[in-house]
Amino acid sequence: PQRETACGGIITNINDRESAPMTVDLHCHSTASDGALAPAVVVARAHERGVRLLALTDHDTLEGLDEAQAAANALDMQLVSGIELSCTWGGATIHVLGYAFARDAPALCQAIAELHEGRWLRAAEIGKRLEAKGMPGALDGAPAIQQELGDSGNAPARPHFAEFLVRAGHVKDRAEAFRKWLGSGKLGDVKQHWPTLESAIDTLQQAGAWISLAHPWQYSFTRSKRRKLIAGFAQAGGHALEVVNGMQPAEQVGGLAILAREFGLLASVGSDFHAPGDWSELGMYRPLPDDLSPLWTRFQHVRQSTAI
Ligand code: MN
Ligand code: MN
Ligand code: MN
Repeated sequence: PQRETACGGIITNINDRESAPMTVDLHCHSTASDGALAPAVVVARAHERGVRLLALTDHDTLEGLDEAQAAANALDMQLVSGIELSCTWGGATIHVLGYAFARDAPALCQAIAELHEGRWLRAAEIGKRLEAKGMPGALDGAPAIQQELGDSGNAPARPHFAEFLVRAGHVKDRAEAFRKWLGSGKLGDVKQHWPTLESAIDTLQQAGAWISLAHPWQYSFTRSKRRKLIAGFAQAGGHALEVVNGMQPAEQVGGLAILAREFGLLASVGSDFHAPGDWSELGMYRPLPDDLSPLWTRFQHVRQSTAI
């Protein structure tokens, strides 16, 4: 039994008809990756908006999970371990969501360490290239900006280099930084070497994760390439499709529901929240067609009913 909430999220009873409804959000970001709010603030905001089962899914890191867990415990809210891993398939960067895994699984820790290392190598390459073009200080300036923005320990990415170029007076704004130096095909457009889709799925399987393919409509694929991706994902051991990602158009939800049915995949839902005032908000997404099997009912430690 499901119904749409005022904010467009979904209230779902898990198994028990008599249980109180709960709102689920299985996709959001904090300052541990590219979100604007600290993990504890994301949890509090989700709780305020009626979310009772939340997964924090920062990009390629588990760093926000301890803080989020402490905040969730204080609110008596259910938090599931989550991560959004980047990988490659068919020449494109694909995102895979992992849930309810063992946080200390060696395979996962090692994969994250490698991604972390890769990001630093990429940042160093961007910094060196900019310095060689007469923009001294880029190598150290971008990491300093990254730290200032609260993301300590992570490598700076192109937005941080853009901010450095603005502050150093090489460009007038971030848009110009991308247009001249950092955008697609420019000097600072250094590709990151991601693992393959199969290897990301393998890593998550070794950690005992439930695995969902993030926003399958967002890759600029043809219909047949998208179908092929989903077939490959299912074949490699993926469990679910993120059928609902925020306020994506209803036709896309319908299209993905058809694919979930065809490939016998479970369905996940999430807002993909990054920042307040952005295009998405915690607990806000289109309803999930009710014949699909929700992934979150498989999470073992999820209480089967949650009083709101
Ligand atoms: Mn993001
Ligand atoms: Mn994504
Ligand atoms: Mn995301």
